[in-house]
Amino acid sequence: RCISSGPSFKFDDLQVQLCSETERKAKPAPDKLVFGHEFTDHMLEIEWTLANGWGAPSICPFHNISLHPAAKVLHYAVELFEGLKAYRGVDNTVRLFRPDQNIQRMLTSAERATLPLFDSEEFLKCLKKLISVEKDWVPDTTTSSLYIRPTMIGTEGSLGVSVPNRSLLYVIMGPVGAYFPTGLKPVSLMAEPKYTRAFEGGCGNYKMGSNYAPTINVQVEALEKYGCQQVLWLYGPDHLLTEVGTMNIFMYWINTQGEKELITHPLSGIILPGVTRRSLIDLAKKRGEFKVTERPFGMAEVIKGLQEGRVKEIFGSGTACVVCPVKEIVYKGERLQIPTMEEGAPITMMFYKELADIQYGRTPSDWVVPI
Ligand code: PMP
Repeated sequence: RCISSGPSFKFDDLQVQLCSETERKAKPAPDKLVFGHEFTDHMLEIEWTLANGWGAPSICPFHNISLHPAAKVLHYAVELFEGLKAYRGVDNTVRLFRPDQNIQRMLTSAERATLPLFDSEEFLKCLKKLISVEKDWVPDTTTSSLYIRPTMIGTEGSLGVSVPNRSLLYVIMGPVGAYFPTGLKPVSLMAEPKYTRAFEGGCGNYKMGSNYAPTINVQVEALEKYGCQQVLWLYGPDHLLTEVGTMNIFMYWINTQGEKELITHPLSGIILPGVTRRSLIDLAKKRGEFKVTERPFGMAEVIKGLQEGRVKEIFGSGTACVVCPVKEIVYKGERLQIPTMEEGAPITMMFYKELADIQYGRTPSDWVVPI
């Protein structure tokens, strides 16, 4: 099922073509940044064809791409993407956070999307070079960062649902400001069992554009009908809590045995294996202050836990925000109040601090890759 990609592209073949000084854009102030609206001056591009395999990687001025109107990506969503960040630390060093994890996930998505594979080390070297070219774009506050969006698309210009014989791998980047400019802000969620984000045997565990387009309309419903900022994606007859918007979900509670426990849905194939999720689980296990469990949990357990005062905090996890506290879940016409912020969300805050300390270089860690 995996297409034969041929040998990987090589960092040693990288060509760099820089903008002139006058072509460079002004860098916006970090507090003026809107996520995903600003892009740096350069991008990385690598073409692949079935006939010739991978071409030479190229760092070039940021530009529009031209596609055949029948390009597979435009019709059958033959596409994948990733999201990671570079952080300017308190020591002025720019660091990537666990890029190996994102590259691995990218390769997993590529295989599922019949897009070509490549050598992760060669890609990381190209990525590091792109970031070093754009170093001045990494904002210098410890709440902002440079968002990195690797993307791969099937570009073959022919109709028909089939393996593309041509594709384009590219990376664009843009500075992003604080997710919570005024401190952690809890969100309310619409939990509507009639919608399903992913299903067993499907593609929920891959980062493909085709998983995201159908969620936008549900997000609009959540806001318009209930004033909810995010969708809580439920699954199956037990209404399992799987993901929050584009985040993984965690609940910190006292379980029925009276133990302090952090619980999150397992990697059963219907959730994205988040890098933040993995990192929080690893950090929590290392601290050893409470039980950490990856198992399915449903709305009935949450409601019982709430009634018995055992649910302490519910939060989402993702690269964009690190952690995002939940204050309310609208479920079956009822507004369930989640006490996450009641005592200042100590577990959520602890995770935020531990991860931010690593990302901004306050805590040394082998999870970061300096540029
Ligand atoms: N779930 C979904 C559906 C997502 O799109 C994301 C964002 N990539 C996440 C979870 C969180 O993943 P990560 O921690 O790797 O950002």
